[in-house]
Amino acid sequence: MADLETDYFVIGTGAMGMSFVDTLLTETDADIVMVDKHHAPGGHWNDAYPFVRLHQPSSFYGVASTPLGSNRIDEVGPNKGYFELASGPEILAYFESVMRERFLPSGRVRYFPMHEVVKDNALRSSITGAETGIHVRAKTVDSTYLNTTVPSTHERKFEVEEGVVCVAPGELPRRAPSHRSFVILGGGKTAMDVGVWLLDNGVAPDSIYWVCPRGSWLINRDTTQPTADFFVQSIGGFARQLTACAQALDVDDLFDRLESSGNLLRIDKSQRPSMFHFATISTGEVEQLQRIKNIIQAGHVSAITSEEIILAEGEAAAPENALYIDCTATAVERRPVCPIFAGNRITLQMVRLPNPCLSAALAAYLEAHYQDETEKNRLCEPVPICDTPEEWPAAQFGNMKNQLAWSQERPVRDFITNCRLDGFGQLVRDVDRSNAAHMEIVKTMREAGMPAAMNLQKIMAAQG
Ligand SMILES: Cc1cc2nc3c(=O)[nH]c(=O)nc-3n(C[C@H](O)[C@H](O)[C@H](O)COP(=O)(O)OP(=O)(O)OC[C@H]3O[C@@H](n4cnc5c(N)ncnc54)[C@H](O)[C@@H]3O)c2cc1C
Repeated sequence: MADLETDYFVIGTGAMGMSFVDTLLTETDADIVMVDKHHAPGGHWNDAYPFVRLHQPSSFYGVASTPLGSNRIDEVGPNKGYFELASGPEILAYFESVMRERFLPSGRVRYFPMHEVVKDNALRSSITGAETGIHVRAKTVDSTYLNTTVPSTHERKFEVEEGVVCVAPGELPRRAPSHRSFVILGGGKTAMDVGVWLLDNGVAPDSIYWVCPRGSWLINRDTTQPTADFFVQSIGGFARQLTACAQALDVDDLFDRLESSGNLLRIDKSQRPSMFHFATISTGEVEQLQRIKNIIQAGHVSAITSEEIILAEGEAAAPENALYIDCTATAVERRPVCPIFAGNRITLQMVRLPNPCLSAALAAYLEAHYQDETEKNRLCEPVPICDTPEEWPAAQFGNMKNQLAWSQERPVRDFITNCRLDGFGQLVRDVDRSNAAHMEIVKTMREAGMPAAMNLQKIMAAQG
């Protein structure tokens, strides 16, 4: 006989597992067991570097029932004028309080930190090795499928000669004072955070080297602000995005249009980026990063010796007294999508990219209120994670297809528009009808929707 019995067995207490359980608690009276290898809820944020922050506003991150932050506008720093971005410690404190003040006192959640799932029907303590059998009456919920990796936990894919100092960004504040040059490895958001951190701390741009195998398109943070004061930037940005999708001739033309409309940014204007991971950044941060001129672009690093950096397509001299900062973790893995609802298993994935929290909350809402598995999957189609601009039309089309399905299903539409994790639905619903400029934006958005979806399909088909 199993030691534990429950309705829902949720693997992972990262943002997605927490968001799923929060909505399930609100919408049902189910009993839930949660398990995680980490010692505290919050998933990868437990392993983050000390100066990490959300790159999108706190106001639509976390769990639906409990706001994160106080909707403050930052008055200083590169995010000045925009809504607060929670820091790693703030996110961890938030998830801890959701667990301690909401989940556990409900009497319906049992939480097993420092435990790993074995064979899907048992948990093993990573401290004592003791195994606990579990009988799941309803479903097992896997929130680990996207497999987020961060620099401190990923496996390094290049060699480092003894004596060369190569660290994860978490080590940077402690190690930086003993080095004169800094080599950032990787082209993603973590690498950008490291660059901004070094410059903000007074390091001269000449002392920074950036091994950036490929450039990235970046979402302009101006378009992600959650209140009516930013209607023109946020909803206007979305309307401009739809118009670009409707009119573009191909992927390059689409990204050119998104850049001209202010939706997308890039650091090096002389180069066409080949990466798009939904990293969100302010123009202030872009300007900071443009000060770094020592860009090493010759593919991925394969080895670092005391003399040189060996790359896939060449070598570069190793700067003197250098600290190498490894920012090469992939963050979210690009696994093939699979049905979210399949028998007695729920595999959480993004149904609105890039919003993991809303995606998980919606899956819980559907689980609570819909019986038919086909219908649930129709309303919750996973959107493939994208890596390149060429893959973005499929992701955008997936987002739009889901949005259309939700808009035609009243209870789902109501759930989403009333959910704080949605971000923008409430802004459109509550538009000031006496404001002609705002109404014009809503009109453009509505008119461009269908042509955008059709043209995206055309662009996808032309890519083969
Ligand atoms: C630096 C960074 C910044 C980001 N900023 C934003 C942002 O601003 N806005 C946004 O929407 N998204 C952002 N993201 C995207 C990211 O997808 C989400 O932030 C989210 O935190 C991911 O949560 P998750 O639950 O999917 O994964 P995770 O946080 O990885 O949680 C999964 C959990 O499952 C546990 N686990 C795995 N396998 C097992 C097992 N076998 N047994 C037990 N436990 C297991 C792990 O220990 C982990 O705690 C960011 C990502 C990164 C890396």
